[in-house]
Amino acid sequence: MKKRHAIIMIVVYVAAFYSWLFLIGNNDSVEAFGTRMFSLAGGLVSFIWIRKAAQGMVDQKGRRFWFLLTLGVLSYSMSHLFLLNYQVLFQVEINLNIAHILGVLAYVIFLTALMYLSYHLQRNKLRSRFYFNVLIFMTFAISVSAHFLIKPTFDLIHESFIVIVLSRAYPIIDLAIIFVMLHIYYLYSRLKQKWLLIMMVGFGIQVIGDTSYIYMLSEGIDHIDSLLAPFWSVALLLIGLAGRYAKEEGSTLQWRIEHFIGEEDSVIPYAAVLVLVVLFVSYSNVSSNPLAIGLGLTLLFITVRQLVVIRQTNSLMKKYRYLAHHDPLTSLKNRSRLQTDLKEYIQKARHLNASVGIFLLDLDGFKQINDTLGHHVGDLLLNKAAERLKQSIGPDDRIYRIGGDEFMMILPNRTEEGCLNIAEHITEQFSVPLSIEDYDIIITPSIGMSLFPEHGRTSDVLLKCADISMYDAKKSPDKHYQLYNEVLNNMLVRRLKIESGLRHAIANDELSLLYQPKVILATRDVVGVEALLRWEHPEYGVISPAEFIPAAEESGQINMIGGWALEEACKQLKIWHDRGFSNVLMSVNVSVKQFQHNRFIPSLKQILHRTGVNPAYLELEITESIMQNTAQTTRVLKDLHAMGIKAAIDDFGTGYSSLHVLKSLPIDTIKIDKAFIDDPSDVKQQALVRTIIDIGLNLDLNVVVEGIEAEAQLDPLLNMPSVLGQGYLFGKPMSKEEIIPLFDKL
Ligand code: C2E
Ligand code: MG
Ligand code: MG
Repeated sequence: MKKRHAIIMIVVYVAAFYSWLFLIGNNDSVEAFGTRMFSLAGGLVSFIWIRKAAQGMVDQKGRRFWFLLTLGVLSYSMSHLFLLNYQVLFQVEINLNIAHILGVLAYVIFLTALMYLSYHLQRNKLRSRFYFNVLIFMTFAISVSAHFLIKPTFDLIHESFIVIVLSRAYPIIDLAIIFVMLHIYYLYSRLKQKWLLIMMVGFGIQVIGDTSYIYMLSEGIDHIDSLLAPFWSVALLLIGLAGRYAKEEGSTLQWRIEHFIGEEDSVIPYAAVLVLVVLFVSYSNVSSNPLAIGLGLTLLFITVRQLVVIRQTNSLMKKYRYLAHHDPLTSLKNRSRLQTDLKEYIQKARHLNASVGIFLLDLDGFKQINDTLGHHVGDLLLNKAAERLKQSIGPDDRIYRIGGDEFMMILPNRTEEGCLNIAEHITEQFSVPLSIEDYDIIITPSIGMSLFPEHGRTSDVLLKCADISMYDAKKSPDKHYQLYNEVLNNMLVRRLKIESGLRHAIANDELSLLYQPKVILATRDVVGVEALLRWEHPEYGVISPAEFIPAAEESGQINMIGGWALEEACKQLKIWHDRGFSNVLMSVNVSVKQFQHNRFIPSLKQILHRTGVNPAYLELEITESIMQNTAQTTRVLKDLHAMGIKAAIDDFGTGYSSLHVLKSLPIDTIKIDKAFIDDPSDVKQQALVRTIIDIGLNLDLNVVVEGIEAEAQLDPLLNMPSVLGQGYLFGKPMSKEEIIPLFDKL
C-alpha cells in the first residue's frame, strides 16, 4: 500500500468512526461495542505497519526502536480487547484491571522506545544531563498530578484503587512522552525527516485525548468514550503511518547527531522548581504533602545534575582545548599552536639577542604513496615520520604538523651551521626505510630553513622564507634541504610575476613564434620548421619557453598558451602554403598537460577548421613523459593519425621511452636530444646515437638530430642517409620573415 493510500485510509477511518458514533446515538452498549471494534481495527492496522517498519530497518538500533513501538501498539490493542470483553460480558470485574495495566504498559513501552531513540541520538557526554532533566520533569509532573489530579478524583469514580492510580498514570506518562518527543524533535529537526513529524503529531493527539478525558471526567461530561475514542485510534494510526514513512527514510537513519543541546533544555528543571515553589506557597494551607516531597526531590536532582554538568563541562573544555592545538593523527601540535608559539619564541629571542631556526619539512612523493597504498598506510607513514622527526631534534626544539605531509620545527638558539647539521641528521634518519605493515618505504624529506634574525624579524616573513627554501629543495631530487638566501627570493618573485603576467600575455600581444629550420643532414635542404614560442615580458624582456611553459603548466594556463601557439603556427603554415611554399612541414610543440586534456582533440579540430591548413603537413612534438600513461596516449595519438596529423617524440633519450613502447605507439618521428651529440669526441656517445638512429630507421620512423651547432658534430652523422637535423649550424630560431629565403630551395 502506498503512503498516499495509507493517508486516505486514515481519513476514511475517522469519518466512518464518527459517522457510526453519530448514527448509533444513545444506545450505550452497542456504542461501546462498536468503539472497541473500531479501536481494535485501528490498532491492528497500526500494528501491521509498524511491524513492517521494524522489519525494514537495516540497522539494529532502528529495528529495536520499531520493535518496542510494535509491542506498545500490541499492548494498547490488547487493552482494548479486554475492555471489549468487559463491555460485552459486562460482569467480569478483573478484566478492567488487566485492561488498565495493559494500557499503562503500552504507554510505558512508548516512553521507553522514545527514550531509547533519544538515548542513541545524542552524544554520550550529554546523555546523563538529559536523563536528569527527564527525572526532574517527571518528579514535577507526578507531584503536581498527585496533588491536583489523583487525590481529588479519588471520590469521583467508584473504581478499585488500582484502576484509579493507573488511570491517573496516563497523564503523567503523557507529559514525559511529550517531553522526550520534543527533545528528540529538537535533536533531529535539522534532518527534516517526515516520519518523526508524523509521530510527533500522533503522540500529540494521544496526549490531547488523555487530557480531554481527564478534563471531561472532572467536569462530569457524559459519553466521554464515544467522543474521544477516535482520538486514540488516530494517534495509533499516525504512529503506524510514521512507520510507513520511516521504512523509506529510516534506512538511512543517522543515529548519532553531532548536535549540541543548547542552553534551552537547562531551563526546564529551573522552571519546574519555580512552579513547584509557587504552588507550594499558594496551597500550603491545603494538604501539600506531594508538592513538598516533589519540591524537595526536584531540588536534590537539580543539585546533582548541576554537579554532573560542571564535571562534564570541565572535561569537555579540556578535550577541546587539546584538540584546538593538536593534530589528532600524530598527536603533534598543530598549525594554530605554531602561530602562537613562533611569535613567543621570536619575542624571547629578541630580548635575549638569540637566534631561532625555522624548518619546514615536506615528504617527497607522499601523495603517491597515499594514493597507491591507501590512506591507512599513509596515516601510519605520517605517524612513523613524526616519530623519526621527534628523535632527530633536541629537548628544547618544537615540532608541529601543519597539514597533509607538512611538518614545521622551531629550533631555538641555532646558528646556520647548527641548522644545516640537523637537516643533514634528519636526512640520514630518513634514509633508513620505514617498515609499515608489509612494506618497507623509503621516503625522503625536503626541508626549507630560515633563521631569525638573519632572514626576517617576524614570524610571517620567516615562514615565507622557509617555504621558498623548501620549494627550492623540492625541485632537485638530490637536494634534501636548503637554507634561505636572497637569490631564492628573487627567483620566487620572478616566478610569481611570470605566472601572473602570463594571464595577459596573449591579450597584450606579448607572445610570438620563431621558426627554426629542419634540414636533411646529407644535403642541408630545408624540409620544414619547428615553431618555438617567445614571450616578450614587459619587465624581464624575452623569456625562454623552458622557463614559462612549466609555469603555465602549473598554473593551468598551458591550454590557452599552447592553443594560441598551435593556431598561430597553423595560420602561418597556411600563408606559406598559399604563397607557393607548398612542401613546408610545420612542427609544433605540445605540452603533456595540453596533450592529455580532454578538450585537446576537439580544439585541435577547430583550429584546423578555422585555419584551413592541410593536416598532412603538421607534426606535433610531445616529450617522452606521455609514455607514462600509455592507454590514454595511444588513444590521442590514434585520433591524431585519423586526422592526418603526424606525431614526434621530442628530446628522445632523456626520459622514459622504452623502445618497446615506441614500437607499439603510432609515432612518426623521434627527435634525438641535443645531449647525445654534445661531445663529438665521445666515441661511446657516437655509438649510442648511431644505434638509436638505426633502431628508429628500422622501425620506419623519421629521425631528427637536435641541437647541431658545429661541423664536428655533424661529421659522424653524414653517412647516415635520410636523417634530419636541426641546430644553430643550419639556422637559429628566426622570425617568419627571416626564414623565407631558406624556403627558396623548396
Ligand atoms: P625543444 O622542442 O626541444 O626545442 C629545441 C630547443 O633547443 C629550442 O629552445 C631551440 O631554440 C633550442 N636549440 C635549437 N638548436 C639549438 C642549438 O644548436 N644549440 C642550442 N644550445 N639550442 C638549440 P627554446 O626555443 O628555448 O625552447 C625550449 C623548449 O620549450 C622546447 O624544446 C620546447 O620543449 C618548449 N617549447 C617551445 N615552444 C613551445 C610551444 O609552443 N609549446 C610548448 N608546449 N612548448 C614549447
Ligand atoms: Mg621541440
Ligand atoms: Mg627537443
